[in-house]
Amino acid sequence: MSEDIPFNKSLDLAPDTVDEPAPGLRRVMADNPGPFTFKGTMSYILGRGKVAIIDPGPADDAHIGALLDAVRGETVTAIFVTHTHRDHSPAVPAIKAATGATVYAEGPHRPARALHIGEHNPLDSSGDHDFRPDVALKDGEVVTGDGWSIEAVTTPGHTANHMAYAWRERSALFAGDHVMAWSTSIVAPPDGAMSDYMASLNKLSHRGETVYYPGHGPAIPDASRFVAYYILHRKAREASILHRLAKGATDIPSIVRAIYIGIDARLTGAAGLSVLAHMEDLVTRGLVATDGAPAIDGVYRLAA
Ligand SMILES: [Zn+2]
Repeated sequence: MSEDIPFNKSLDLAPDTVDEPAPGLRRVMADNPGPFTFKGTMSYILGRGKVAIIDPGPADDAHIGALLDAVRGETVTAIFVTHTHRDHSPAVPAIKAATGATVYAEGPHRPARALHIGEHNPLDSSGDHDFRPDVALKDGEVVTGDGWSIEAVTTPGHTANHMAYAWRERSALFAGDHVMAWSTSIVAPPDGAMSDYMASLNKLSHRGETVYYPGHGPAIPDASRFVAYYILHRKAREASILHRLAKGATDIPSIVRAIYIGIDARLTGAAGLSVLAHMEDLVTRGLVATDGAPAIDGVYRLAA
């Protein structure tokens, strides 16, 4: 097994139309394509008659209208939110107001760690800081609907409040931005944390759901194999960072240039934060040293 993740970027889906990726599951993709969102955010509708919506998506009137059209004549009993990035949760108030559904999530938006002195949060504007769930779910809690049941699976790492949702009748998991078919997940401090992210991946690999429905891109039909690739990929990235440090690199920008060959220029900042996430983890584990707290402009060396 190489560490090359078998990405699947084939997705032939018009935005704000309804399709049915599995019996009993509908999907409406928002029209918000981009380097972080692929072709758009996926909102899922679970069940028939009395349904749940997973990730209402961005505050986009066309998308909100398309979702409400899709459930016209039905009752929305629950809204589940995987995490509070602005492409996933800002449509919640409008959908809740129109349907009266109960909103479930892990909790409000928050960083994975406190800011260091002098540090500004480069991700501040990507968070939906107004979001509050009606019910804060704990790991393992189950919400039952009409013909479906959802188990909350805490999966911190991409954000501190990231939660996946297991669809228990189908051995399926709504994976949010934790695992996606088209790309790796972004783990960027201070909102994200690599040690949490790896622990969440390991947790999912032990659960063994068969199919994942992610927040962006197509479904992942062979989920356990895919998660194994994801874990290998992160370990390979960590090995590359250690290798560059051994070769004399001392700063994050030169490591990004050396290991992210051919990266989309719009993603360079995210790649730097991803390397910072690895540095935080490596410093905590005593493998890498830096002066003070690990920082994006810090100087790094292998620990003696
Ligand atoms: Zn996200």
